[in-house]
Amino acid sequence: MSRGRDSLDGSVPLAARARAVQPFHVMRLLARAHELEAAGRSIIHLEVGEPDFATPEPILAAGQRALAAGLTHYTPAAGLAELRRAIAGHYGRRYGVDLGPEHILVAPGASGALQLVFSALLEPGDRVMIGDPSYPCYRQVLRLLGAEPLSVPVGADSDFQLTAERAERAWSPGVRALVVASPANPTGSVLDARALADLHALCRERGAALIVDEIYQGLVYRVPDVTALALGLDDLYVINSFSKYFGMTGWRLGWVAGSVESIQVMDRLSQNLFIAANTPAQHAALAAFEPETLAILESRRLAFETRRDFLLPALRELGFRIPNRPDGAFYLYAGLPERVREDSMAFVTRLLEEVGVAVTPGHDFGDHAAGRHLRFAYTRDLDPLAEAVERIASFMERL
Ligand code: PMP
Repeated sequence: MSRGRDSLDGSVPLAARARAVQPFHVMRLLARAHELEAAGRSIIHLEVGEPDFATPEPILAAGQRALAAGLTHYTPAAGLAELRRAIAGHYGRRYGVDLGPEHILVAPGASGALQLVFSALLEPGDRVMIGDPSYPCYRQVLRLLGAEPLSVPVGADSDFQLTAERAERAWSPGVRALVVASPANPTGSVLDARALADLHALCRERGAALIVDEIYQGLVYRVPDVTALALGLDDLYVINSFSKYFGMTGWRLGWVAGSVESIQVMDRLSQNLFIAANTPAQHAALAAFEPETLAILESRRLAFETRRDFLLPALRELGFRIPNRPDGAFYLYAGLPERVREDSMAFVTRLLEEVGVAVTPGHDFGDHAAGRHLRFAYTRDLDPLAEAVERIASFMERL
């Protein structure tokens, strides 16, 4: 690969593949929001993709005990044996899926898990089908590895998901894997057991792997909470994390589930890439599946549901287009009202500057229709949400 000669001071230019990695637009917005806050403005943050709730007390206590006991050395690359067992046990108890610890590898977040799966599976030049809109890191990490993301526009007709039917129409030679997220970021849409089975069958028929990002698992509202792992482990990789449902974003801990053979390969990759995931975090996460913790998480899930049930009709009332009810995660992906002329980037910038409400522009999640869409994260309580709706309403009146 030729290196561009755009270095001003004569030093060696950085790799083109690395320089091609795009930043999140939302980070620029967040920085501006913080600037405005520092200047005394009140900002309501609906742009942030993490729960506002603190890590549940039993997990914090287990983490503190681990630190007090000096449990700060490396763990095995695949994670603490007890934690791999606890994760496998969780699948058995909650989803009726029979897995062993040998099917689980603990990673530094779903981000680390994604790197491991992509690295284990893909040769340079392999194509990977992903929906547009979807979580931006898939594209960036794939390109970094020399693989080729094949973005397929998905709209309201398939609930913004890559369904088997949509994937089949878009299939092209060289597709080696397909990535879906359920519940999804930025749309909150959920794939049911049937849709997952159809995708898996299509992938197997075409000799491709199915990668399912289940990082928002557990955060579903009035629809069944399912896992793709019910389909078996053939050519299937499931990514998950303690970040969202378990409220542990900053602890940097996730996992991947796959066949024993793939876990063994990812174990070697993990040794070389990360050595292991964070040790105190792994000890803390052992408390994540305790009944006391699960009760706290259930009350939070209900709080998210109440917020969604408030924000969804309120935004529709203001003219935002949210055709299907998003059944999971904590996001609403909304089309701009017809009468708004500016694109979503200009809209979110003005919304922040003029009324102090921060939301994410569609541009962070793809190209197709991005200019007409926004993502609202209902990671704030009902009072700030109501205040945000009022501010947006007054902003819309002035348009
Ligand atoms: N996948 C999706 C769909 C996400 O939204 C995120 C975080 N926003 C991640 C993966 C990565 O999460 P983490 O590394 O914190 O587990």
